[in-house]
Order: sequence, then C-alpha cells, then structure tokens
Amino acid sequence: ASATGLDFDDTVEVRIGSKKHKIHTGIFINGQFVKSVSGKTFPTINASNGEVIAQVQEGDKADIDAAVRAARKAYETVWEKTEGAQRAKYLWKLADLMERDLEFLAGLEALDNGKTQANAAAGDLPLAIGCLRYYSGWCDKIEGKTFMDTHSYMNYTRHEPIGLVGQIIPWNFPILMFAWKIGPALACGNVTVIKPSEKTPLTALALAALIKEAGIPDGVVNVVPGYGPTAGSALAEHPDVHKIAFTGSGRTGRAIMQSSAKSNLKKISLELGGKSPAIVFDDANIESAVNWCKVGIFFNHGQTCCASSRVYVHEAIYDKFLVAYKKVAESIKLGDQFDPATEQGPQVDEVQFNSIMRYIDHGVQEGAKLVTGGKRHGTSGYFVEPTIFADVKEDAKIMQEEIFGPVVAVTTFKSEEEIIKRANASTYGLAAAVFTKDINRAIRVSNALHAGTVWVNCYNVFHQNTPFGGFKESGIGRELGEYALELYTQVKSVKINLGE
Ligand code: NAD
Repeated sequence: ASATGLDFDDTVEVRIGSKKHKIHTGIFINGQFVKSVSGKTFPTINASNGEVIAQVQEGDKADIDAAVRAARKAYETVWEKTEGAQRAKYLWKLADLMERDLEFLAGLEALDNGKTQANAAAGDLPLAIGCLRYYSGWCDKIEGKTFMDTHSYMNYTRHEPIGLVGQIIPWNFPILMFAWKIGPALACGNVTVIKPSEKTPLTALALAALIKEAGIPDGVVNVVPGYGPTAGSALAEHPDVHKIAFTGSGRTGRAIMQSSAKSNLKKISLELGGKSPAIVFDDANIESAVNWCKVGIFFNHGQTCCASSRVYVHEAIYDKFLVAYKKVAESIKLGDQFDPATEQGPQVDEVQFNSIMRYIDHGVQEGAKLVTGGKRHGTSGYFVEPTIFADVKEDAKIMQEEIFGPVVAVTTFKSEEEIIKRANASTYGLAAAVFTKDINRAIRVSNALHAGTVWVNCYNVFHQNTPFGGFKESGIGRELGEYALELYTQVKSVKINLGE
C-alpha cells in the first residue's frame, strides 16, 4: 500500500462516448490518490453492455481510519480557522471547474450510471453546480442570535460546525448527491469523509481531483470508494465522526442508526425511499398531467427516490388518461446513453434489473392489467421497457413497495376525501403531486398529504433553495436550502453574567 500516493499513478484511460479520457481510480485521502491498504480493487461496469469500465481501489475500515485521521488533522490545523468568505471562494471555484469540465463529467456519469449524457449535462450537472454556488453564498452568513432574558444576563448563540462528518451516497444521482452533501457541510465549516456507492464511484473521484485543483486544503474532503458493509459501516461506526448524512435505502438507514447507537451517538440525517402518489382530479389538464406523470416515473429510468410510482386518476377521466399515458410511455426512446436521441438508458446494474423484472412478474401474477412495457429491451445491457400497470389493487405489491425502476401502478378514485386517505396509507412520505385547476382544492389536498414535498401541476422539479426530505420512513432532516444548515451546525448558548 502507498501511504503517500506519490509512487502510485491511479489514472486509467477509458472511452467515454466517442472520446478517450484519463480518469481516477484511487482512494482520495489528504489530497492524494492512494491505493487501498488491503491492496484490493473492485470493478465498476457499463450497464449498457455489462463490460468493466475500470478497477477501483477498494476502501475498507483501514482506509476509512486513514481518511478520518486526515480529515481531523485538516479540521484542527486549517479548516477550523478558515474564514467563511474563503470557504465561499473554494466552493465557487469548485463550481467553476465543474462547469469547465461539464461535458466530461456528464459523460463519465453516463458511462458509470447508465443515465444519458444529455440528461446529466442538462440536469444533474447544472443542479449540482447551482447547489455549490448556493452554499457558497451561505459560508459567511452562518449566524446565531442574541437574547436579553433578564437585566442581569445576556445570552447569545453560536452556530458552530459539527466538525468531522461522514457522508454516504447512492448511485442514482452520484454527482448531485455529492454536491448536496459537501455543499452545506463545507459552508458550515465541517470537514468530510464521503463514501460514494460501489456501483458508481467514478465521478466522485473526478470531483476529488477538482477539489484539489480548486485549492481546497488537503484532508478537508476525502473520498473513499468501497462497499457498504465494509467501508460504509466503518464510517458509520467511527468514534471520531460526529455526524452521518446518508442517502439510500431504508434498510441501510436503519443499519446506520444502529451503528450510531452502538458507537458515539452521532447525529444522523437520512434521505430514504418512497412510494409517492400523483393524484389527477377530473378537472385537471389531462395532457399536461400525463406529461408530468411521465417525468414523475420515467425520469432517470424510475431510479428516483421521489418517483410518482402510484398514479391515482379520477374515474371520470381514467380511460382517456390511460390512452394518453400509454402513448407517451411508448414514445420514449431507449438506447445507448451517448446517443443524443436516447431518452432512457439501462438500469444501473444486473441486480437492479432483476429486482425490477421480479416486480413486473408480481404485477402480472397479482392480476394487474399490463397496459404497456413489461419486458427487457434489446438483448444486451440492463434495459427495461417503460411499464404501466392499470387497475392495480391497493394492497398489491407493486402498489405498496418501492420498485426503483420505470414501472408505474395506476388506478382510479372517486372522491377527494377517499383519495387523501389512500394516498396517505403508506409507510413512506417523501413526495406527492396534485393535478387540478381548482386552487382551493390544490391547497386543501396539499395540506392534507403526508409528504415532505407536494408538487402541484408539476413533478420532479428541484431547486437548491427548496428543502427536500421525507415524512415518516422516508427520512430524517431536510437537505437543500437554508434548512440544510441545521444538519451541519450545532447550537452553543453562551450566557454572560452582567452583574457580579
Ligand atoms: P443502499 O442503501 O444499498 O446504498 C446506499 C449507500 O449506502 C451506498 O453507498 C452503499 O454502499 C451504502 N451502504 C450499504 N450498506 C451499508 C451499511 N451497512 N452501512 C453503511 N453504508 C452502507 O441504497 P441504493 O441501492 O444504493 O439506493 C437505492 C435506494 O436509495 C432506494 O431505496 C432509494 O429510494 C433511495 N434513495 C433515496 C434518495 C433520497 O433523497 N431520499 C435519493 C436516492 C436514493
């Protein structure tokens, strides 16, 4: 193993679309790309053909320990004393570098994840860059309050950084989740060890190189690729890590809470899954509702935590809605993620592909009506046809469980009162949508829905200033906007005796 990384060139050349690029495959600790202590590597694959893109250094407990040591040293020697205005410059610079390398980063994201390069370039990257610029603006505006509770005492609060945070991210939006995590963490003055998903480690390592280029001091951001039960749980259990921010499945969220309970009661924020309902009333603009419900489930191949995977359509417009929904689903062009005409690439890997196909089998066995899709697309790669099931019973597996693929369950409803109850009858509460032209109904139903985000006459619309997170089992805490500052600061009360 290389402790310094100086004897180790971690770059390999890969083809991204029609161009060749050098990419990083090392573990990024203390500003250096290093080998794993164990000497192990793991493959990451191109989901459109199953071929190995590169072998990546596989971090585990020993590498997490080294990353935590580096982060702690960076905090104590440099970062704690770095002014907010300077942190702002670093975040802005990183955003500029991402903008400079936008096509490359979008291509690498497409190669590793399977999403289209065009979507990554038009969506993921601008949102990630916007997020970093937004939090750059907050760096010198982290403020407390002053209280005069009696004439004898004065009290003020300081919103101090937590210090060393661990961040564990999933594979569905690798660059965007990286930005959602490091943006507010660094803005509030923390250092971080971040573990990307083993399915999509490559763009996090590309961002690590830009972090170095942006001049962010060594050790402030450390990136350790590796598997969940080894590297992820070592981070979640580490006694020197005081907070874990996690995005991923509820199962892992629970494991992280247990790790925290077993170690040092670290603070936890969780962004988990969902089974989000879209409710289409009979006065809705049907064409518009159909198009938003297309975006709701088929965007990012259904691999979106807030996907509108349950669609409830008023019985008066159900047949008309289904005809139009089938048509838009069948118009989606599947194929190579580098072809500008492609709208949907492959699912991220074989595991996800098989899981989605099993849900489709369940849907058929449970007697739901298969309106369109339901099959593998093509003969190689993990492509799933956009799939619509209609007349789905409320207790069906495909109506209850998160599928995380391009599969939607549609059914009817009769009244507003009834549909609010049915929409809320879920252990999840991440997002929901209401389609209606009646403003009173839109507000009434939005207020009644148990969800962290309610979209009215739209879906999957994000902005860095708007908080995002879940009710119930969909999560703890809110990312984005001013709300995320609460996740990365702790409040200190200072009380001063003004008398004797
Ligand atoms: P996952 O929970 O398996 O993995 C997410 C991350 O956690 C990965 O980096 C993984 O290596 C790590 N991990 C796995 N086991 C771990 C453990 N025991 N300890 C520590 N870390 C561990 O989830 P996934 O399959 O990568 O992502 C899909 C799920 O994530 C879906 O359920 C989806 O809804 C959810 N998700 C939620 C959001 C959100 O913002 N709420 C966003 C994206 C994905």
